Amino acid sequence: MAVIIGDTCINCAACIDECPVEAIVDEDDNPTGEEYYYVYPDKCVECVDHFDSPACAEACPTEGCITWDMPFTADHKEYFAGGNYIDGENYVMEDADLIMPTRDDISLEDRAARKNVVED
Ligand code: SF4
Ligand code: SF4
Repeated sequence: MAVIIGDTCINCAACIDECPVEAIVDEDDNPTGEEYYYVYPDKCVECVDHFDSPACAEACPTEGCITWDMPFTADHKEYFAGGNYIDGENYVMEDADLIMPTRDDISLEDRAARKNVVED
């Protein structure tokens, strides 16, 4: 990851077609079982080399719904695989060796705090 969609998601579908890499799935395909949209951290590229900022968050009408999450890099694999992801549910990775593009200007502190992608 990347970015993460929170439980304030209203399933409006505004984000899904904005994603350049098809990293977003709807509530029916959310692997966590939650009934809202979901971003696959091993697919999201944070819109690097596509847009100046995450297109999903720019399109989302729900303030604070899409926030930063930890980068999907080698240093943070434990975070995604260790059972502390999405309320203790393990995330099933398609390829655990993947290293995804990440925005260096977003600090780890802001990611850990799940800061809003789109600021007021
Ligand atoms: S940040 Fe970009 S790549 Fe990631 S889910 Fe949103 S639109 Fe897709
Ligand atoms: S645009 Fe926002 S509220 Fe709408 S489905 Fe996507 S994350 Fe949920």
